[in-house]
Formats: sequence, structure tokens, C-alpha cells
Amino acid sequence: MEEAKQLFRKLKIYSLLDLALIVPAAYSDTTLSQSLDIGKTVTLDAKVLESRVYNGKLRVTFVLPRFNDRRLSSTFFRTTPYHYKLFEPGSSHVIQGRLDVYKGYLQMSQPKSVKEVGRVTPKYKTVLKESEIRSLMERYITEKNLYNEGLDSKEVATLMRLHFPNSIEEVYHDSRLKPEIVEVLKFVEAFNHLKKLRGKRVDFPALAALSGDITPFVEGLPFTLTEEQQQVIGDIRKDLAREDKAARRMVVGDVGSGKTMVILASAMTALPHKSILMAPTSLLALQLYEEASKHLPKDISIALVMQGKEEGDYEEADFIIGTHALLYKEDMPSAALVMVDEQHRFGTNQRQMLEALVSGEGERKPHYIQFSATPIPRTQAMMESELIDVSLITTTPFEREVHTKVVGRESFPALLSHIKEEIARKHQVLIVYPLVEESQEVPYQSLEESRGFWEERFENVYVTHGKDKEKEEVLLQFREKGDILLATTVVEVGISLPRLTLIVIVGAERLGLATLHQLRGRVGRNGLKSWCYLFSNTPQSERLAQFSKTTNGFDIAKLDLKFRDSGDIIDGTIQSGQKFKWLDMAEDDAIICKAKERVHIQEDN
Ligand code: ADP
Ligand code: MG
Repeated sequence: MEEAKQLFRKLKIYSLLDLALIVPAAYSDTTLSQSLDIGKTVTLDAKVLESRVYNGKLRVTFVLPRFNDRRLSSTFFRTTPYHYKLFEPGSSHVIQGRLDVYKGYLQMSQPKSVKEVGRVTPKYKTVLKESEIRSLMERYITEKNLYNEGLDSKEVATLMRLHFPNSIEEVYHDSRLKPEIVEVLKFVEAFNHLKKLRGKRVDFPALAALSGDITPFVEGLPFTLTEEQQQVIGDIRKDLAREDKAARRMVVGDVGSGKTMVILASAMTALPHKSILMAPTSLLALQLYEEASKHLPKDISIALVMQGKEEGDYEEADFIIGTHALLYKEDMPSAALVMVDEQHRFGTNQRQMLEALVSGEGERKPHYIQFSATPIPRTQAMMESELIDVSLITTTPFEREVHTKVVGRESFPALLSHIKEEIARKHQVLIVYPLVEESQEVPYQSLEESRGFWEERFENVYVTHGKDKEKEEVLLQFREKGDILLATTVVEVGISLPRLTLIVIVGAERLGLATLHQLRGRVGRNGLKSWCYLFSNTPQSERLAQFSKTTNGFDIAKLDLKFRDSGDIIDGTIQSGQKFKWLDMAEDDAIICKAKERVHIQEDN
């Protein structure tokens, strides 16, 4: 047992199904061949007629009793006394090797003498020795064990066939795994992954059951909540009403889908208990504070905590909004509900710090709700919802009118006059460059190279980039006074720029669709008719063409999966979710659905 454990560790596998999913890279087959297929590996009965040394090589002539005693000659280049002894005249063998023909004579160089005839043996490519991995398979991949994992009879039979076939035809068609086997592997892969996620989820009791009235807030709003907003608020209220289980939920919705209203309704639900909301930047925290002050009933006390700025008394407030400065306050009161906005913009380190916010008291934890504006494919949401509950907001409260056009160099004059028109209308323009400084590797102008061009022709040109220490200040100034903002893709424009109606993305084909979508989301925030120009040296790109046709983040997440292998993406923003060997996250919704059902059936039993 201990020995097996070590081998599992070497293989980096953690479940029986992980082992079952190690698929043979090939099979060796010692079934006797029915015909003499030239150029193929064949397995033949053979009797030694003559054996002699010739120029230091061993020459053996065999006769083939099944094929009219035809002769076959073999040469052994690397010979040992063992070979002389083995191939003594008169002895019988089953030999295996590649069959050739030379001037009408059958030949096989350096044949192997097969001991076990009629066996199909899987060949695994792992870090283990052949014998080690085979013995693991023989010991653990049994019908009984596979049934115990929750597989059905067809799945069990398929996996048994894969690891212990009677013939190669059972497994391969045209030397590839048969489709019905691949189908089962996809299912097992999804099922295994979901089971593991399920196992990782640990639920804790909540600090308090929360069911504050949200009507005063909802009735005070200048608009009605969309159906999806109401639905998600409903999901959250159900979570928060429980005391036996602290909520762990992720709300995913495109930029502009109205997540702030969901946040505010959640804070209302928490009353009379406290809630905390954390945002990744000061600008965003400030904006959330302003919106909360505007929309929440006046008797609710709100505090703002960020570096260098505080509003209200956070020790007393019902609702505390802030940046990670929150984490450093020693007298921060404990909250029954913790929320994080724009979760996708927190770094890994910061995410670990967030855990401190939800550490709770002893066994009990606060309810925890995260908000993200990175739409994920439905398949990924289905997977992740094993670990954390997921709510999707797939529509926006009002249709934004954003036109997307892919343009090449020759369209630049037209683009320039469009920019002038927008500025004349008191609108603003954002131009996104791939890099700050010139680089050999990037076939586009950099921010610094282009800067002069814009500054000569336009007034009120502002420039910022990711490493710019002043960027928040520049953005605030641009919002008030700017016409054109030059930036790089890494600059996070956290604030809303309501007059922004035109964005140009230089070198768009180099970016993942998720990034393009985030960038495009900056324009038309207030319903003004807007344009997104994808400037590219390869304007005929199919990926960009498809992107131009939709503005729905969830459709784009799916497109991103579809074009995953298209190779022209450099920013690595492709959804970096789980990598699967068999499962296709773009296509296999139905399989994942089935696997999910199975995981849950198993749990109920
Ligand atoms: P998100 O945080 O999801 O990007 P916001 O919460 O900032 O989106 O909402 C975007 C804009 O939509 C805001 O100006 C907000 O006031 C407005 N809004 C939100 N919900 C509605 C609604 N149901 N009807 C009309 N406008 C809404
Ligand atoms: Mg938001």
C-alpha cells in the first residue's frame, strides 16, 4: 500500500479516476498475424532452419509453418551468446518485428522472441517504469472499484476495455481511439473534476442569518431592477437567510450589468448587521461610496475607508466601503456580510488577504459574496459552481449602442476625421497602444512614438499607462477636461468616463477577446452611441470579425474558447480555467451537465 502511495505521488494523481484517465499511448499486440503484411509489424510462428554467424552478425533462417513453410531470414546486428543459444536450429518461436521483402525473400531484422502469445498490452507513457504503472492498473482498475466511483456499466466496461483490451480493434479505429471511448473519457474527466471540487468545498455556519427589508431601497430607485438583478438578489437573500451555512457566492456580470444595485440590496439585507464592501482601487471605492450614498435610504450610515481619505465613522457604520486599507484597520468591526467588487482585479496576494476579512469567529464565518466583471463560459460556471455558488447576469439594463469595426492602415484618414467629429460633439476618445516604448517585437507604434502625432494635431491630449504613478490623477483630469486619452492595455480605467464614445485599440489581433471586451466596455457607458475601432495589420481576422458581431460578454467568453488555439494572442487572457485533455469547454455543455447530475445523485445517496 505504502509503495502504491509513493507511485501515486510520483504520478501526481489523487483519485482512482485520475489513474483510470491515464490512457495508454499505444498497445503492443502479440496475437498471431493472419497474413504477411509487408511493411507492418507482424507476429509469426517460426521454426529455426539454420543459424550461422556471418561477418560478426547472426543470420537465422526461419520456416513459417502457417504460411506453406515459406522462408524468412533474419539478421541480428547486436548479438550475444544468448541469441545463438536461443535460436538453435530446430527450435520453435513466436517472433515479432517489421516484415520486409527483398528480391522476393521475406526478411525481418532483429525480431523479438515473444513469450506470451495472444496478448494485447497497453503501453503507458508516464514517469513510472512500465511494470510499475501496469501493476497499479491491474491492482486498482477493477470493475468493482470503478462502480464504487459512481460510474455506470457502460462507462466501467469502456474503461476496462481501454486498459485491458482483448484486441486492438476494441479500442482503435484507424489507429485512433474510437469516438465512443473518447465520449466516455470526456464524461469521466468532467465527473472526476467535479467530484474533486465538491470535496474541496467546506461550509461553515454563518455569523448571523440576515433578512433585512430591501423595499425602502428598491422603491427609492429611479428605475426598476431588471429581472436578472431581481433573480440574483433573490439568490443572495436565500443564502443570507441561512445561519447553518455562510454564503459563498460569485456574481458574474458584464461591465454595466448593474451589479452595484445587487451589492446595495445585499447590504440592505444584512441590516441591522454590518456589511463591508471592498474594491480594488480608490477610484472605484469612491464611486461605490457615492452610489451607495445616493441610493440607500438616508437613515443607513455609510463609511468610506481608503488610504489618505476617510468618510463617516467606520466603527459605527452599517455599511463600510473601502480599499484594501480596510485590512490594516485594527479596530475594524466584524461584519456579518463581506463583499468584494471587481474580484477579478485583485492580485493573488491580495486575494489571500481577503481571506482575513472572512475569517470570522471560531467556526462561524461571515457571508461572503464576490462580484466579477469577467464573464466566464457557461461550462466553466457549471464547473465552478461546485466550489462556490455562481449567479450570472447576462443582460444589461439598457442596450448600449457600440459599433465595432476592424480597420487597417488604409482606413486611418477616415478614422482620424471620425475622431475629430466626436471631439466636436464634446465626446471623448481613448486610444490604446500595445506598449509604452518602441519595441522590435511589436509591429505597431508605441505610446511614446505616437504621442507627438496627437499632441500636434489636438488639444487636451492626456497620456497614462500602467506604471504611471500619477494615473488616477491623470484620469480624473481627463474626465473633466480631456479630448483624447492615450493609454496602454494594462491601464485599468476604474472610473466611468460617461463622455467616452470612441476607442481605438491598436494591434487588436494581439489581444485576447476578454481583454478586447473589457476595453470596449469603456465606451458608451451612459447610452451614447459609440464606436470601437480594432486597428490591425491583419484586418481580415475571423476572430476579430466574430468579436465585432456581439457585445455580450458570455458569448465572447465562448468565442474565446473556440479560438483558443488560433495562436495570435499574446496577452494570455484566455480564460485560464482548468485544462482538460478530453473535454472541450466550448462544446461539451451536455457532458458537463450530465456529470454534474451524477455528482449530485451520488451525494444524495
Ligand atoms: P456594473 O457594476 O455591473 O458594471 P453598474 O452597477 O455600475 O454596473 O451599473 C451601470 C449603470 O447602470 C449605472 O449607471 C446604474 O445606475 C445603471 N443601472 C443599474 N441597474 C439599472 C436598472 N435596472 N435600470 C436602469 N439602469 C440601471
Ligand atoms: Mg461595478
